[in-house]
Amino acid sequence: MSTPTIRLTEVHLDAGAEDAVLDVLRSGQLAQGPKVEAFERAFAELINVRQSIAMSSGTSALVASMQSLNLEPGDEVITSPFTFAATLNAILEAGATARLVDVCPDDFTIDVRAVEDAIGPHTRAVVPIHIYGYPADMTALTRVLERRNQIAIIEDAAQAHIASIDGRYVGSFGLGVFSFYATKNVTTGEGGIVTTNDELLADRLRLLRNQGMRRRYEYELPGHNYRMTELQAAIGLSQLTRIHELTSRRRINAEKLRAGLSDIEGVAVPVEAPGRSHVYHQFTVRFARSAGLDRDRIAELLARDGVESAVYYPRLCHDYPCYERLSTVQPSDLSTARKLTGEVLSLPVHPWLSDADINRVIETVRGAVRAIREAEDPVR
Ligand SMILES: *Cc1c(COP(=O)(O)O)cnc(C)c1O
Repeated sequence: MSTPTIRLTEVHLDAGAEDAVLDVLRSGQLAQGPKVEAFERAFAELINVRQSIAMSSGTSALVASMQSLNLEPGDEVITSPFTFAATLNAILEAGATARLVDVCPDDFTIDVRAVEDAIGPHTRAVVPIHIYGYPADMTALTRVLERRNQIAIIEDAAQAHIASIDGRYVGSFGLGVFSFYATKNVTTGEGGIVTTNDELLADRLRLLRNQGMRRRYEYELPGHNYRMTELQAAIGLSQLTRIHELTSRRRINAEKLRAGLSDIEGVAVPVEAPGRSHVYHQFTVRFARSAGLDRDRIAELLARDGVESAVYYPRLCHDYPCYERLSTVQPSDLSTARKLTGEVLSLPVHPWLSDADINRVIETVRGAVRAIREAEDPVR
């Protein structure tokens, strides 16, 4: 009998979510209404911000955030390329130029010194990505931007619901953008939200979301339809009741994985700097090429033994022909980020893993590393 595959992600909605969705179906109001409003209130309260604006996806939340800043051609947004394409696409969609800077080697977040070097007269925003659920160094970033009020912060917190820095949640340092896509730590199937303490931006975001309309057929700006449905909000509300529990299970699983893998030569497990709390959307390990470890070979061996893994991300977000000739994509030295794309591998850490599953992940990774070392040096 073969053992079942350990999945990289699993989604389990409870009876509360089912009931809530049925209620919406029976109410006859499916488009944005009171549930969305309740979800926004609950999310703002959770993150401890004044306003939150629900959107149809994390991507539309990112695009709307960029648009709320009224960016013009030539305006620059600084971000890092070690991310999902949506971060870059949103900048381009808003008509701005993306200035891409490198990341820190040990935690994959934007290098704040590189941000400082990249700031120029046209810089309008910086987009730190809380990648894998680990908060970027917002303390250092806000210090750099302290006397530069014209530069906004848009946090890409798509993967980082309730990740925190010194007890303060990400998404509360600037405009915060969260995703509720199917596999994210909090899901509504598809969905997103923007959090902010800025009432003016919140107002503009609500207009942008709904065709620029303040009252019926009174348009104040050319907007879009970025609205969330009542069905999504009902699922979201039910998810929020479990967010602390599910996040703490991820953290406990991560702790076990870290304990089981940290002594392997050439393997770097995720770090948590003092005060910075990781929510482990992914548990991403680095396999050092310099130590003879081939990441792709390890992934193959894991798959053979029934442990799913994935590479986030196999290439930098702009490293595709469709971005090559765009003058609106301006990379700087990205050597660390580029190196990481060849070494990272994400392992199962989701809340539904048993202790036995975690142990199997650990043993399988250890076995794969051993197999590679033995193949390379049979007498070792
Ligand atoms: C998922 C994700 C997005 C986009 O969110 P969607 O809800 O899928 O549109 C943006 N940025 C990052 C880093 C993400 O992981």
